[in-house]
Amino acid sequence: MAADIYDWIAQLKSNQWVLDVGSGEGSFPGAEFSCRWLALDDDPAAFTTTVRYNRVTGRGHQLPVADGSIDLLICHHALEHLAPLDQTLAEMARVLKPGGQCYISVPNGHGLCDAVYRLVFLGGGHVNRFRKDEVVSLVEQRLNLRLAEWHKLYSSFVYLRKLMELLETPPPKLPRRLLAISWLPQSCVGFVQRTLYVGTRFLDRWLRTDLAVYGWAFFFEKPSGQPVVEQPGYVNVCLHCGTGQPAAGAPRTRWWSCRCPNCSLTYPYTRPFRSTR
Ligand SMILES: [Zn+2]
Repeated sequence: MAADIYDWIAQLKSNQWVLDVGSGEGSFPGAEFSCRWLALDDDPAAFTTTVRYNRVTGRGHQLPVADGSIDLLICHHALEHLAPLDQTLAEMARVLKPGGQCYISVPNGHGLCDAVYRLVFLGGGHVNRFRKDEVVSLVEQRLNLRLAEWHKLYSSFVYLRKLMELLETPPPKLPRRLLAISWLPQSCVGFVQRTLYVGTRFLDRWLRTDLAVYGWAFFFEKPSGQPVVEQPGYVNVCLHCGTGQPAAGAPRTRWWSCRCPNCSLTYPYTRPFRSTR
C-alpha cells in the first residue's frame, strides 16, 4: 500500500496515464514520474510556467479522453469547484481503466478553514461543499472504487497571504469586503494568519478538535476487502507557500520554528499529536 500520492505517481510505468482534472499549473509539481501526464484545466491561463505535462483545456464534465484510458485520476483541490458534479463524476468513471486508482483531495465544506476562505473570498468558487463521509460514498458509488487510505490536510491559512498579494494592485470594482481588507496593513493580516495557525493547532492538540484541518486526501482503489487506513497528516505547513513537511525531518531554526524545504522561509514548529506527523 502506498504511503502517499508521490508513491502512487512514481509507481506508474512509462506507458501509463495520469489525468490531472482541474490541474491549474499541474498538481504536485515536485513529483518524479515516468508515466504520461495529462493536465486538464478550463482556464488556459493556468498553463503559464510548467512544461512537464501534456496539457489540454477542457471541463471536468466533458473530458476529452477515451473510455477506460486512465490509470490514475488526480483531482487535487478541484472537485469543490467542478459543476455539474454528477456529470463530472460520471466522466471520471468513464475514463478510468478497470483497476485504475483515484486520488481526490477536498476541503471540509463545513470546517473553520473553509468558512474563513468563503468569508474572505466571497465563496471563492467553491460550488460543492462536502462532508467526509458524503464525498467518500459518492466517489465509491460513482467510480465503483473503495477508499483504501486517507489523511487529514492541515491548513496554514496561506490564502490570507495570497489575498494580500492580490490586493497590492487591487482590481477595479473590488467588492466592499475586499476593499476594506485592502486598507489593512499587511502586518495585520500576517498577525491574523499566524494567530489562526498557532491557535487552531493548540486547540486541536488539547481539545481534540479539528480546527486546523482544511480537508482530506483520499486514496481510492478497486475493492480489496482490506480495512481503510488513516495515515498521519503533516501538521507543519509553511505559512508562506503552504508546503507541508514531516515534523521528524523539519530543519529547526529555534525550538519553536522550522524552515520550509520549498521556500526556505521560517514558520512556527508544531510537535506532532494524535494522527499527525
Ligand atoms: Zn514555504
